[in-house]
Amino acid sequence: MSKFQPIEFYGKKRPSTYQLLPFRFSELDENRYVLTNLSGEYLVAPKSTVKPFVEHQLDASDPLYKELRARHFLVDDKTNIAPDLLAIKVRTRYERLSDFTGLHIFVVSLRCEHSCPYCQVSRQSEDKGKFDMSAADALAAIDLVLQAPATNLKVEFQGGESLLNFELIKFIVNEFKARQSGKNIAYVIATNLALIDEAILNFCREHKILISTSLDGPRELHNKNRPRPGKDSYERAVAGIHLVREHLGRDQVSALMTTTESSLAFGKEIVDEYLAQGFSGIFLRPLSPYGFAIKTRSYLAYNTDRWLDFYRKTLDYIVDLNREGIPFREQYAATILTKMFTSTDPGYVDLMSPAGIGIGAVVYNYDGAVYASDEARMLAEMGETKFKIGQLNRDSYKDIFLSPNLLDPLDDSFAFSAPMCNDCAFEPYCGADPVFHFGIYKDYVGRKPESEFCRRNMATFQYLIGKMEEDRFVKRLFLSWARHS
Ligand code: SF4
Repeated sequence: MSKFQPIEFYGKKRPSTYQLLPFRFSELDENRYVLTNLSGEYLVAPKSTVKPFVEHQLDASDPLYKELRARHFLVDDKTNIAPDLLAIKVRTRYERLSDFTGLHIFVVSLRCEHSCPYCQVSRQSEDKGKFDMSAADALAAIDLVLQAPATNLKVEFQGGESLLNFELIKFIVNEFKARQSGKNIAYVIATNLALIDEAILNFCREHKILISTSLDGPRELHNKNRPRPGKDSYERAVAGIHLVREHLGRDQVSALMTTTESSLAFGKEIVDEYLAQGFSGIFLRPLSPYGFAIKTRSYLAYNTDRWLDFYRKTLDYIVDLNREGIPFREQYAATILTKMFTSTDPGYVDLMSPAGIGIGAVVYNYDGAVYASDEARMLAEMGETKFKIGQLNRDSYKDIFLSPNLLDPLDDSFAFSAPMCNDCAFEPYCGADPVFHFGIYKDYVGRKPESEFCRRNMATFQYLIGKMEEDRFVKRLFLSWARHS
């Protein structure tokens, strides 16, 4: 007698006995859905398959069934440990929450010698000494920084133009060193480099201070975006980049660009400029609706559709460069891809939920005010102090980090329970951004169908996933960006 059933038995469709694990689905295009589970793993499936899946009609021999089981969208008798694995991944994803606050921004001066129309910090003219942070406030901020539970900290000096108050930067770095706190502190100076010199660089080398600068693109575009006396912002930035590399090393300087209306036609040229200056990547940033960007109507100069068109075309160009063997990455995509393919949260404040305010970053302003994020202080410069969470030399660490101005927006904006986000398959990759939504809609959550934040991000998630689905090279490239972010 045979030990096996007849061959027909194995071809027979049997009702599957599986249980669904929590998942969400959103449209990718006309024919497909993106499905994501609690830990952010995603799967693309034809629309016609989702109904049979949720009705427990999917056959165990179906390749989609195996994919869904492997990625923890369903459990059956072969995978009863899936809920535990899922729980570990979710826990890892939120691990960063207990290790706050990683980034501490000191606004050492609001003065600046540039007059960029899109400036988001409402600069003050150079001679106004009252716009510098005092030593007493700097000492109080240092006390707060060292009370943060996180061991690995980044202290970033910003302005205005931070080098206009370099004496205070020196004072702060020396004070941190003298305290011997046992924390690992990395220092960054954000500067337009117009005032950089050898003495500053020697101090940076001695204390391993990194430099972050602005480069908006080729000479003409950069100088148009960033006017200063002498009309030589580009020349000074490029000379400064060379000088920093000579003194500190090749990778010790990074650059950020801001996309103005004038930039929209020059995505390729902007990337080429970054390559020419020896950078291995770029962060394509849209304008934020704060400070001078609103006053000068720069923010209103282009809408989300024009931004997305610019972003997609420039990203396609970057992919083509990689195809030709020129390694180059786009940092916004890399941040999202890290969230898609790893359990690590890259800690980018705009794409965090619970929001990154206070948890991911905190700002000590030149006037002693403490803000929940860089954008929060920009909003305050426009008169809206909703996100002011305390005052140096008055409030304790506890007062500041338990302030209702921090806890209320964190609580209210949590995307997992926000209307529309709670059903959205892209929620694991997205953020809450209560400062943006309050700035525009006077509400921490906003109405997502009208939110430009939502529209921009959803279109970007769909675009990245769509590109990976249609091109194996892109999938490999994006995986490498995620793993080395
Ligand atoms: S903001 Fe939009 S894209 Fe982001 S999770 Fe909410 S609904 Fe989804």
